Amino acid sequence: MRVLFIITFIFLFHALYAQPNLRHLKNTPRIEYKYFKAAFKIMKTLGFRVRKNLASDGYIQLIIDSTVQDATFTYIKSEVVNTDSERYYKKPLIRISPSLYDIIFKQKDVTNKMYLSSQSILIHEITHYLQVADEENYYYIFKDKNPDVKRYFNQPSEFEAYSVGDYFFLKQYDKKALKNIMKQELDIHRKCELLINLFMHIDSAGGTYVFPK
Ligand SMILES: [Zn+2]
Repeated sequence: MRVLFIITFIFLFHALYAQPNLRHLKNTPRIEYKYFKAAFKIMKTLGFRVRKNLASDGYIQLIIDSTVQDATFTYIKSEVVNTDSERYYKKPLIRISPSLYDIIFKQKDVTNKMYLSSQSILIHEITHYLQVADEENYYYIFKDKNPDVKRYFNQPSEFEAYSVGDYFFLKQYDKKALKNIMKQELDIHRKCELLINLFMHIDSAGGTYVFPK
């Protein structure tokens, strides 16, 4: 009886607390482990799902690409396992512009705001890599003559990636403002909208909001 109790307890504990494992990402060339950990932690805080088969991925590579504006995440999906949460990537790849690479990894002399904002772009792309959210009919805002900003931001994968990147930025740039949003009696989706709005406002020095007030 006691054994059964212990087994049941271990099973329940595992089911409740089992987390996707990030350990294999410690040896990723070029990308420091702290970035994976930071994105993962914020995703958990905001309630975003992380792919459970991360350990089956090929090594994620960071490639410096002068044709890229900031950074972008590309991957070759596994042909074997391809359901939402079980998806894994054979060749995950983050493409990053030379200037962004220099700011994040080569201590290029920029303002603290610029440095944090650049790091948050990397966190955004790492969130794309980690997330379950994935779009079948993805809307590429940069290919549209009349870009639909709201449509772009409201795609679950982008909504999550912006929320996580912007949370990362605000946590260091304006912790108080971040706290003021997070402590409000609002659902998490609305809090994320406010995070994104605030980041856009700061980053573009008083720019327009993405979401309605
Ligand atoms: Zn994105």
